[in-house]
Amino acid sequence: PLPHVAWIGLGIMGAPMAENLLKAGYTVTGHTLEADRLERLAAAGGRPAGSVREAVAGADVVVTMLPADSQVTAVALGDDGVLANAAPGTLLIDMSTVSPATATALAAAGARRGVRVLDAPVSGGEAGAVEGTLSVMAGGEPADVEEARPLLGALGTTVVRCGPHGAGQTVKAANQLIVAANLQACAEAVVFLEKSGVDLTVALDVLSGGLAGSAVLTRKRHNFLAREFAPGFRMELHHKDMGIVTEAARAVGAVLPLGALVATLVASARARGDGGLDHSALLRGVERLSGT
Ligand code: NAD
Repeated sequence: PLPHVAWIGLGIMGAPMAENLLKAGYTVTGHTLEADRLERLAAAGGRPAGSVREAVAGADVVVTMLPADSQVTAVALGDDGVLANAAPGTLLIDMSTVSPATATALAAAGARRGVRVLDAPVSGGEAGAVEGTLSVMAGGEPADVEEARPLLGALGTTVVRCGPHGAGQTVKAANQLIVAANLQACAEAVVFLEKSGVDLTVALDVLSGGLAGSAVLTRKRHNFLAREFAPGFRMELHHKDMGIVTEAARAVGAVLPLGALVATLVASARARGDGGLDHSALLRGVERLSGT
């Protein structure tokens, strides 16, 4: 039989991911803060739980998909959290994007309670979560990654063990650096092209076919063209991720000049009040700088 899954965090990513597990035949008990999202889980065939403790009871695998380090730490290590309630032998898979240091601390805390831990952050955005085509970057024991592979394979098409505990988060931090820099470059190109009077649709078509083409350009094209910035991936979360990559790079002596600049631009977007918008709203900052 498939393992019984407890899923904590049913937000933009967690809800469609948990639904993909249900479609694949897993039983899922879920907990999250918003009542309407618990109802959505129930409508999809899952079992809503009123607390982490209730969700974790009887689970073979616990998945967390929470905003940031503080929520993951509280949910995993809190008095009424996952480790306090999970049976020894449980596999905890944290799919949130947190720092590599938090991932290794979680794994160490889990080991003290006989709970195996994987970091398994994802890339592919809301669309990838809905379609089940995420890229999963796993860190932890090889045997645990293999045990989790069928479950992770129901969520994503690319599932790769990147190395020991924390390595998945390190790769995800690099991913966020590349995505932010790419978004900023695309946003600058959009403003440049529009001010030059070139038809943007035509320009983006041909750019997408060449070396400038990217998943960012393809997936965020609509946001740029329509100035539609409903998240998606909230600027606030990318601000968190730029902090993670900045800190992790500092720790190993990697110098990221472009990363520093883009982190500043993301921080500026957030400071202007765009933290709740999709990260493609970096375009608004470029427009402001260009007097558009
Ligand atoms: P979100 O804010 O939409 O969802 C987070 C969910 O966590 C919410 O439903 C909230 O109720 C729940 N939550 C928070 N604290 C909780 C607690 N104490 N107990 C139970 N539930 C709690 O965020 P999201 O966009 O789904 O992102 C989740 C994670 O995935 C983040 O780390 C993000 O960086 C990462 N991520 C997001 C995307 C994206 O495109 N949105 C893509 C890749 C990775």
